[in-house]
Amino acid sequence: MELIPTQEEVVALLRKTGGLRDGHFEYPNGVHANEYIQVALTMRYYQVAKILSVALSRKLRAHSDIRVMIPELSVVAPATGGLPVAYGVCEALHAHQVYWGERDNASEPQHFRQFLDVKPGEKVLLVDDILRTGKKLGELKGLVEQQGGEVVALAVIVYQPYPGAVQFDPLPFYYLAKLEATYANDAASCDLCRRGVPLNKVRT
Ligand SMILES: [Zn+2]
Repeated sequence: MELIPTQEEVVALLRKTGGLRDGHFEYPNGVHANEYIQVALTMRYYQVAKILSVALSRKLRAHSDIRVMIPELSVVAPATGGLPVAYGVCEALHAHQVYWGERDNASEPQHFRQFLDVKPGEKVLLVDDILRTGKKLGELKGLVEQQGGEVVALAVIVYQPYPGAVQFDPLPFYYLAKLEATYANDAASCDLCRRGVPLNKVRT
């Protein structure tokens, strides 16, 4: 495998480690899909996590503007899915620090730990395991900017754009694999439901 695995190699790693499943799935919002990705299942295997983090860091390092920022770069992720990516990328890049946004419960906005202050003009790389709706990263970007930080790029392992996903143009955006699932808004419009394929309800 090359230092940056191809899309096919990343998909093979995801499948082999249980992070990518084919079937018939229903998300908590009622949307049906023909595949399910849970990158955390892949990231539990440290050696695989390392391959993916190193690959992402190489893509980032290839961007000359980002490369010069690395010594002062903060790698910031939504907890908890983004944490292994943040630490892996920070280690591979030799970036400055890692921190994360978290929420006390699902209805609260994300916040940083007490005494964690974003410095004015701080360069921030946002990372996560997957970008689907972009809501979590969009919220985190707002939180960083509200405290005076500057988001300079985004990077995720898997990009699986959901209809109407948040766009982060013109920021550089990196991913290792782009996956397009077939979505249906509900059971009534779902082809897999019509064909009687057994349904798995997924929690996230
Ligand atoms: Zn269905």
